[in-house]
Amino acid sequence: MSKTLSVSAIQNGTAIDHIVSGQAFRIIHLLKLLDKKYQVTIGLNLPSKRLKFKDLIKIENYVLTDAQANDITVFAPEATINVIQNFEVVNKITTSLPSSISEVIVCPNPVCITRTEPVKTCFNIETQGKQINLVCRYCEKTFDRNQVLYSSL
Ligand SMILES: [Zn+2]
Repeated sequence: MSKTLSVSAIQNGTAIDHIVSGQAFRIIHLLKLLDKKYQVTIGLNLPSKRLKFKDLIKIENYVLTDAQANDITVFAPEATINVIQNFEVVNKITTSLPSSISEVIVCPNPVCITRTEPVKTCFNIETQGKQINLVCRYCEKTFDRNQVLYSSL
């Protein structure tokens, strides 16, 4: 095992590595990890050769669905998602950018109907080169991934 581990290893579960630094909390909310009673270890601003700084999330005894893994790529396109069994990586989840993302993410437009009516938010995902934008299906406004808010539910 590497001597340079800065976040403790997990026996079984999922490790989400190479998250662009600053996105870990969006992903925690996206996966609704605060509602679930899983053990979660978070590393923030860890040194990374590829990204310079990265965030990392490890979730004990929980394996992401493919849809959850794809949702993560909206906020962390370079993330690597590994399934861990007995401290070993047994599967690397292959992700692709989803065409839309719903719930959890809150539209930043204060007059969007989703801010006042009890409707589930839904955003279409559009890319322009490396830029990933979210387009609200209700107010049709376009937002950078760093602009969108998340609900605490
Ligand atoms: Zn909207």
